[in-house]
Amino acid sequence: MDWQVTLFDTTVDAAEINAVSQVLTSRWLSVGAVTEAFENEFAQQLQTTGAVAVSSGTAALHLAVLALELQPGDEVIMPSMSFVASAAVTAHSGAKPVFAEIKGPHDLTIDPVDIERRITPRTRAIIAMHYGGYACDMTAILALAQKYGLTVIEDAAHAPLVQTEHGMLGTSGHIGCFSFFATKNITTGEGGMVVAQDPHILQKVRSLRSHCMTTNSWDKQKGRSSSYDVHGLGLNYRITDIGSAMGRVQLQKLAHDRQRRKALVQLYFSLLQDLPEISLPFFARQGDCAYHLFPLILSPNLDRGMIQESLKMQGIQSSVHYPPTHLFSFYQEQYGYQPGSLPITEDVAARELTLPLHPLLSDDQVSYVATAVRRLATGINSASRR
Ligand SMILES: *Cc1c(COP(=O)(O)O)cnc(C)c1O
Repeated sequence: MDWQVTLFDTTVDAAEINAVSQVLTSRWLSVGAVTEAFENEFAQQLQTTGAVAVSSGTAALHLAVLALELQPGDEVIMPSMSFVASAAVTAHSGAKPVFAEIKGPHDLTIDPVDIERRITPRTRAIIAMHYGGYACDMTAILALAQKYGLTVIEDAAHAPLVQTEHGMLGTSGHIGCFSFFATKNITTGEGGMVVAQDPHILQKVRSLRSHCMTTNSWDKQKGRSSSYDVHGLGLNYRITDIGSAMGRVQLQKLAHDRQRRKALVQLYFSLLQDLPEISLPFFARQGDCAYHLFPLILSPNLDRGMIQESLKMQGIQSSVHYPPTHLFSFYQEQYGYQPGSLPITEDVAARELTLPLHPLLSDDQVSYVATAVRRLATGINSASRR
């Protein structure tokens, strides 16, 4: 397919290529000095104690969940309208994912009122996902955590370096998880990061990342140790220095890219805000944001499938973020969810449409997309107008 406007694009250029070739030339490819530097720079920019770089966002979430030492029967509350990773890692740990509603079509983040309804004596944690780079209601979520003695994990895969009244996203709860997958605002191809204020949690995550070995090959290389013990049940979730080299460059580009994303979102808003057939989530939102996605919610009488098909015929890629996790067959079969279990999520998710957003888009491309969406939403057939 020859897209005229792709959903995502990467800002990787000669700077990342140079950084990566330096690593390849150095002949140290796995976790080493470059990863250490990436972790330190990331933690510093987030103004937090430390960071542990891992092989994916899913690995970051898995290590966060493992660090809680959940028991079978424990429950973790999370939004259904999210990527499946947080539910999957919870299920892997033996605990039960409990899905909560989002606030509504105007705000696609988890609803604290619904979280509280779902808290039981078995609830251990809340996973807050900052949809599209927009902060969850952390004031209310942190108050619930305090009241019921719960841990807050932030799925900040969409939200690197977003400043809020509770600090940077990822550091406002107890553990923060980031993804550096190819479509994210910072990419290392595949990769992720765990952050925490508590040095004990960081130590635990770092240990679990590398099979709970007392020393790693980087220590051995530096002559610090030649043998090791294993004091727990870990995994290999290490990133490579190749990825970390990319990540360091991407981190430097983030602020500039953010400005561009913001301008494009404002352009979309200005071109679409008058349409009664479309509602624009987060339109009235104040404050910092990572502008990772541009979601819109179609009115119920519009056929999303047909709109996506027509956009595709005009070379415009679109997507859906997300099909509700509780309706995937595994989660229905395993935990008894069914259509109707989360009516708000199901209604909004069925009408959500994600339009292209990335820093390399031109204003003209955004106008082209917005015009196409306008025509489709207002029933003017673009084909008959040619
Ligand atoms: C991308 C993403 C993840 C998983 O990250 P990977 O690096 O793809 O494993 C988790 N949660 C959300 C919300 C994401 O967008």
